[in-house]
Amino acid sequence: MEELLKFAPRPTGAGEMFQLLRDGQPRTRADLAAITGQARSTIAARLDLLVSAGLIGPAGEANSTGGRPPATFAFRPNAKIVLAVEVGVAYAHVAVTDLAATILAETEEPLAITDGPQIVLSLIAESAKKLIALAGRSLDELASVGVGLPGPVDYLTGRPISPPIMAAWDDADVPGILQRLLGPPVLVDKDVNLMALGEHRRAWPDTADMIFVNVANNIGSGIISDGELRRGAQGAAGDIGHIPVPNAAGLLCRCGNVGCLEAIASGNAIAASLQARGLDTADIGDVVALVRSGDVAASQAVRQAGREIGTVVASCVSILNPALIVIGGVVATASEHLIAGIRESVYQSSLPRATEHLRIATSRNTSQVGILGASVMAAEHVLSPRAIDALIPMPADGR
Ligand SMILES: [Zn+2]
Repeated sequence: MEELLKFAPRPTGAGEMFQLLRDGQPRTRADLAAITGQARSTIAARLDLLVSAGLIGPAGEANSTGGRPPATFAFRPNAKIVLAVEVGVAYAHVAVTDLAATILAETEEPLAITDGPQIVLSLIAESAKKLIALAGRSLDELASVGVGLPGPVDYLTGRPISPPIMAAWDDADVPGILQRLLGPPVLVDKDVNLMALGEHRRAWPDTADMIFVNVANNIGSGIISDGELRRGAQGAAGDIGHIPVPNAAGLLCRCGNVGCLEAIASGNAIAASLQARGLDTADIGDVVALVRSGDVAASQAVRQAGREIGTVVASCVSILNPALIVIGGVVATASEHLIAGIRESVYQSSLPRATEHLRIATSRNTSQVGILGASVMAAEHVLSPRAIDALIPMPADGR
């Protein structure tokens, strides 16, 4: 309560007041009046609007100090549903969630991203309709859709920008196609941004400055600054995989340049380097299996990849001064070697002041984190103060 009093913006309408209740805690009219400094009559009018919209509901009675116990009100995350989609190269993870990112039904659909947006998005829409029915809900309860794609996206238009592994998707109207198939607004972002958002909101909501680094067959990062996702001017912020590193000099990268971080430290690069030394590692899955079995050469290769990634992360630390770096992706969860290598480089090559309180941790929700972020992005779009006020017009006297 003290915290809220200090930091909460003074609500100007029902949409602003709703933000105070989004944490799910039940509050009485008196609580809300104390937080906002507004008259009880104003609070009561706004609560009525939110209750009639179904977003807020009665949540029992508070403890009484004598007399009739006061009624409490709380956010109803089940009022609507959102669709969260994470598209990979060979699959799509599709989930129906409530407005608080609780998964109600989910599935993983095999597909080929190279089939292009029309085929892939139609498949996803069909899968979504089945999941909605499975969750016992209906399509008209769907408030919004969040989609993560494995490539750069112009967040404002939701269109992919020259995506390297999905050429057929370049400038495709992903929101338009899905909206025609499903109805509600569609938001699209690159997958690692949504991983950062999901990890932040679910595991570290009180950490204002965080970098999420995903290490798989590509290497990317999502930046949370002042509690918000930072996408940059062209949606390319955090694209650390193609920053040159000294030890990759001369190595060809899939982007066409030489010397990129990915050319030496991605899952594919680790697998190839071990294969060149005679080990049976066709892909990152094989590397992970070897590391799990305790293979020394594989573990050392992963640790060295961690050091390479750490040199780039150290630069990010100098620029952004995060309090937390979260490492996600299959390699990170397979063993401590990757994160150990990253820690080594970061603490060695950053200024003490930037690393004094810096924490480097492994993702807490690795397999779910992208879908959580897609759900959060979609829900935040429909639960913003402006969206809520648009949903429930303010009374004519402007209270
Ligand atoms: Zn590159």
